[in-house]
Amino acid sequence: MAEKLQTRCVIAGGGPAGIMAGYLLARAGVPVIVLEKHADFFRDFRGDTIHPSTLELMHELGLLEEFLKLPHQELRELRAVVNDQVVPAADFTKLPTRCKFIAFMPQWDFLNFLSSHAKRFPMFQLYMEAEVVDLLTGDSRVVGVRAKTPKGELEVRADLVIGADGRHSTVHTRAGLEQREFGVPIDVLWMRISKKQGDPRQTLGFFQHGKLVVLLDRDDYWQCGFVIPKGGFDEIKACGLTKFQNDIVSFAGFLRDRVSELDDWSKIKLLTVQINRLRDWYREGLLCIGDSAHAMSPAGGVGINLAIQDAVATANLLGEKLRAGPVSVNDLRQVQARREWPTRLIQGMQVFIHRHVVTGQMSDRKGSLPFVVRLLKWFPVLRQIPARFIGIGPRPEHFRSPTAGEPH
Ligand SMILES: Cc1cc2nc3c(=O)[nH]c(=O)nc-3n(C[C@H](O)[C@H](O)[C@H](O)COP(=O)(O)OP(=O)(O)OC[C@H]3O[C@@H](n4cnc5c(N)ncnc54)[C@H](O)[C@@H]3O)c2cc1C
Repeated sequence: MAEKLQTRCVIAGGGPAGIMAGYLLARAGVPVIVLEKHADFFRDFRGDTIHPSTLELMHELGLLEEFLKLPHQELRELRAVVNDQVVPAADFTKLPTRCKFIAFMPQWDFLNFLSSHAKRFPMFQLYMEAEVVDLLTGDSRVVGVRAKTPKGELEVRADLVIGADGRHSTVHTRAGLEQREFGVPIDVLWMRISKKQGDPRQTLGFFQHGKLVVLLDRDDYWQCGFVIPKGGFDEIKACGLTKFQNDIVSFAGFLRDRVSELDDWSKIKLLTVQINRLRDWYREGLLCIGDSAHAMSPAGGVGINLAIQDAVATANLLGEKLRAGPVSVNDLRQVQARREWPTRLIQGMQVFIHRHVVTGQMSDRKGSLPFVVRLLKWFPVLRQIPARFIGIGPRPEHFRSPTAGEPH
């Protein structure tokens, strides 16, 4: 026998979109259950960036001061090493936001922080190890979800199901929502390399003749992302580990003395990169947000921010209505109408970066800098454009859903 629960809103997925939406809706007085399939938030593939616009939201929620006490690094200027030359690419110090930096923080710290605050609202419930496997439907609308848990099957009926279950969304697949794929020419190899005293401080991006390596500083180790042509992993494997290790050293020479830590292909994970978008983000009783509605590439490191902005728009547009009862398809359409335009713009930028920057069509003669990069080097004021696009993004959302009652 399945355990049966009833609530106003059930959210599939406890990533940035799901936890933020759950937090804001519960804060607005809407009973919410978030179902997350994993037992914790600790997974290596998660991005680490908290953008100025998200930090602004944390301020609006009264959480910023406490949040910034968590270990993090502050990136005020984005520098890339292009063909061995250091190029300042984005200057965040002039942004019209309280925090003029990107905070680098492991995403599990961010999600633990947010969910612990959400749990202070009596309307919020989080079930870990609860994997949504199907939708419940009735009278041609979605009326809930069926989930698998270690204790057995769980059925949660709700007036609204939110799919925030990421790029491989069960919710949007089961709902039969039509998806448009945008070809992506890259994948990412993801691995850890230890850190040592004397290493450069801060996250680094190395571009070389159309190739890219990113090193994320995770305090006691480097999280290394090596961008490869899509489908190219087998060829890289065939050339052997030594060649791969040497390739990494050719980008970041300071890793020479420890690149041998990568002594087995099992230490190198292939992350497939996708960009896609649903035609309709909703159907009666169901709304998809975040990567479930629009899978983002790591280019520009903006997917987390966009997922959070979707969650804020959802709470702003639906919070009060949901507190009173079910919402209509028209209400759900408004969330898509608000968020689709910024999503299109950012995905367009990502497709451009893939085609022209990462895959090297823009990097010209050996050793020289691509024209756009040279412009950024010559005219510092231009660095505010990528800073605004990355740090705030188009159509930033501000928290304005009602607050119902004080947390515990
Ligand atoms: C290699 C790589 C690196 C990236 N780096 C960055 C970066 O540095 N900065 C950045 O901003 N963006 C980055 N991105 C993009 C970013 O990861 C996503 O855009 C962002 O995580 C989307 O958030 P989300 O909450 O919508 O989905 P997700 O973060 O994918 O969260 C979905 C959650 O749902 C859970 N889930 C999945 N299926 C189910 C189910 N059936 N039932 C219950 N729970 C389920 C998952 O466990 C997960 O916790 C990167 C992407 C890739 C591929």
